[in-house]
Amino acid sequence: MNDHNCQNIVFHCIDFRLINETNDFIKNNYGGSDIVSVAGSSKEIADGNSYLLKQIEISHNLHHSSKVVLIHHSDCGAYKSSYQFNSPEEEKEKQVKDLLKIELIIKERFPDMTVEKIWAELGENNVTFSKL
Ligand SMILES: [Zn+2]
Repeated sequence: MNDHNCQNIVFHCIDFRLINETNDFIKNNYGGSDIVSVAGSSKEIADGNSYLLKQIEISHNLHHSSKVVLIHHSDCGAYKSSYQFNSPEEEKEKQVKDLLKIELIIKERFPDMTVEKIWAELGENNVTFSKL
């Protein structure tokens, strides 16, 4: 491995409320990674936009990343501005559904990459990360 390689490309939301925890989570669990910070994390892939897939392509070709990590979170403004949710559970359900769709899109386009889906739950004073 040389200095221009990294194993992962990580997508997370821009939301300042969990940025420190997210950075720690990435550092502790994934090490050196290409990072894409965008409102709604990988939501735009589910919406059919291709510019986020281009980021994966660049990371994969340039840094030989082999894993895509998708971190989505509860109470996400990007999701709340696109959809009407009646409960936090409903929001999570929609995001999980999107993540499964996004995973399929990524695997179809980049068959040699693996995808990991992470849910970040905002608590009163903490953030809990769990694998989906
Ligand atoms: Zn968000």
